Amino acid sequence: MTRPRILLVEDEPAIVRGLSDTLAGHGFEVTVATHGQAGLDAALKDEADLILLDVMLPAVNGYEVCQTVRRHGLDVPILMLTAKGQEPDVVLGLNVGADDYIVKPFRSAELVARVQAFLRRHRAAPARCTFGNCEIDLVARRVRRHGADVELTAKEYALLAFFAGHPGRALSRALILDAVWGTSVFVTPRSIDRCVTTLRAKVEPDPRAPAYIQTVRDVGYRFDPCGAATVDG
Ligand code: CA
Repeated sequence: MTRPRILLVEDEPAIVRGLSDTLAGHGFEVTVATHGQAGLDAALKDEADLILLDVMLPAVNGYEVCQTVRRHGLDVPILMLTAKGQEPDVVLGLNVGADDYIVKPFRSAELVARVQAFLRRHRAAPARCTFGNCEIDLVARRVRRHGADVELTAKEYALLAFFAGHPGRALSRALILDAVWGTSVFVTPRSIDRCVTTLRAKVEPDPRAPAYIQTVRDVGYRFDPCGAATVDG
């Protein structure tokens, strides 16, 4: 089996050293770019299995790198590295196509776990998705819970299917709105929150402490079919 290739775009030497060593130690092949343009050039070669992308970079910043990569039609997972206190900027990163973010300083074990999870999830888009006691049949467009059909509205189903297609990603309300509601109708981010509330009531074991459709504070939502132990909202 070939080693997964990680492109690390980061300008801070200490982080570059630490992350390169850690990732190499976990069997990843690491390519480093220390400024945005070099990162973009490397990303567009389409050789990386995952990109770790710092936001604040010389020359071309992380958002521009991300946006350009997506404009070229590449769907490689991109995990943004953001400094503490820059969380509101995270929304911008997600809206230009990043998959998720991790706040510095982070523990290297956490980062490695996130990277491994992303690589696993990215491998195949399945026809069905199971989480908890629920199963979504994305071909038949049915949802079952404990084997019994769950009645969902068209929007609830569309939202759940969108979540299922983007597991583990922090999804901004703007992105969800575009993908599920489209841009032609008048809806507000509140419409998403209401739809999430009714959806949770139908699929979550405890809708008040959701395990699968998680709130990402100030951003939107994240669907985790494994039901992560830590829920940040
Ligand atoms: Ca930086």
